[in-house]
Amino acid sequence: MCLICVEMTKNKLTSKEARSNLRETYKTLPKEHVYEVIKMIWKKEDEEAEEAEQLLEKEEHENH
Ligand SMILES: [Zn+2]
Repeated sequence: MCLICVEMTKNKLTSKEARSNLRETYKTLPKEHVYEVIKMIWKKEDEEAEEAEQLLEKEEHENH
């Protein structure tokens, strides 16, 4: 695990922040691990999208 994985696991990084961190550090990481980090970012994006959906739904219920 690199710092990006650690921080993402702890929810200290958003997928966006993780992406920009990866852009700065991918050259120092083994190629296979870069793939692992990218997969983790995708998973995180899915989670964030779900959270946003739930928030929107909640707002809709509150407004009607
Ligand atoms: Zn890592």
